[in-house]
Amino acid sequence: MATLVTGGSGFIGSHTCVEMLNAGREIVVVDNYCNSNPEALRRVRELTGKDFPQYEADVRDKAALSRIFEENDIDSVIHFAGLKAVGESVQMPIEYFDNNLISTLVLLEVMREHGCKRLVFSSSATVYGAGNQPPLTEEMPLGTPTNPYGRTKSMIEDILRDLCVADKEFSAVLLRYFNPIGAHPSGRIGENPNGIPNNLMPYVTQVAVGRLPKLSVFGDDYDTPDGTCLRDYIHVVDLARGHLCAVDYSANHTGAEAINLGTGEGYSVLDLVKTFMKVNEMDVPYVIAPRRDGDLPAVYSCPDKAKRLLGWETEYGLEEMCRDSWNWQKNNPNGFNA
Ligand code: NAD
Ligand code: UDP
Repeated sequence: MATLVTGGSGFIGSHTCVEMLNAGREIVVVDNYCNSNPEALRRVRELTGKDFPQYEADVRDKAALSRIFEENDIDSVIHFAGLKAVGESVQMPIEYFDNNLISTLVLLEVMREHGCKRLVFSSSATVYGAGNQPPLTEEMPLGTPTNPYGRTKSMIEDILRDLCVADKEFSAVLLRYFNPIGAHPSGRIGENPNGIPNNLMPYVTQVAVGRLPKLSVFGDDYDTPDGTCLRDYIHVVDLARGHLCAVDYSANHTGAEAINLGTGEGYSVLDLVKTFMKVNEMDVPYVIAPRRDGDLPAVYSCPDKAKRLLGWETEYGLEEMCRDSWNWQKNNPNGFNA
């Protein structure tokens, strides 16, 4: 039996494929490469020495997805496929709702037609909104997302909760990621953003590699220890291992279960920049800039539920995240487009 990995060529998907294959699991990957490069999957094979079926298709294409289910014995799905840029989602709400919601609905229809009832979904800490005090726990009331991207995550969580009410055999594990950074320690796969990055770590690595002149630190007047925002950065390999645990958990579970994947530690923007400079023995020029609209002062998880239900804990710290992000960037200055 195999796990279908939608969006498996992307940043988190490719790392999850490595962990799944190294654990001896069978996977089938579907991706339309709208935000990734199939070279990532070639490198997954290189890193693991294992092969797997790989389909170029849009998850919204029902005929294509049905064929994948007909050609493979799929008993579970990890659903990464989706658009994820917050700013872009404000400019292109129709594309975000269309891609993220329709892909999920088509996937659920095809799963139902094939009797597949185990789904692990890529949700996000963004569903907690602004009203909760960290550390964030899964029981807290969900907030109102401030952008279309966040709304798609909240809406898909709702869809999956409703589905689990209607179908008592369905298992939906809603993994709420905090801030994934880092890369596989080999430096062969990593994050490959299009254009100028919006997120902190890819911006830092692109300054470090000389593609961008300097980092702007968005605000140093927050009510935090050094005035810059706190986030719960998590190594992508730890995050990937969490998916393996979630797939296993779904085998003996029914209902919709939200689970945080974070370290439980809040690090500031300056903590991250200074740790990056220290472990990689290099300078990263930065300036203090105005606050960015919509940023919350502090977002970090309580990771206890993941430990309790999944037996999962993070292994990597901020130093390894900074080391591995840089190792990836310096060995692949143009990402997969070398
Ligand atoms: P990514 O863009 O690297 O990966 C997403 C993959 O899905 C890409 O390979 C893309 O080509 C593919 N894809 C998108 N729409 C598709 C479609 N309709 N059909 C087929 N393939 C499609 O992003 P990522 O960082 O690996 O994120 C994976 C998931 O995790 C996304 O759903 C994202 O919203 C969620 N997430 C990411 C973060 C983060 O900071 N990276 C945080 C929280 C949640
Ligand atoms: N950040 C920054 N400069 C940048 C990008 C991000 O100072 O060029 C800050 C941002 O204000 C936030 C933190 O880094 O406090 C993490 O931002 P990111 O976009 O990576 O994640 P998110 O906002 O989704 O938590």
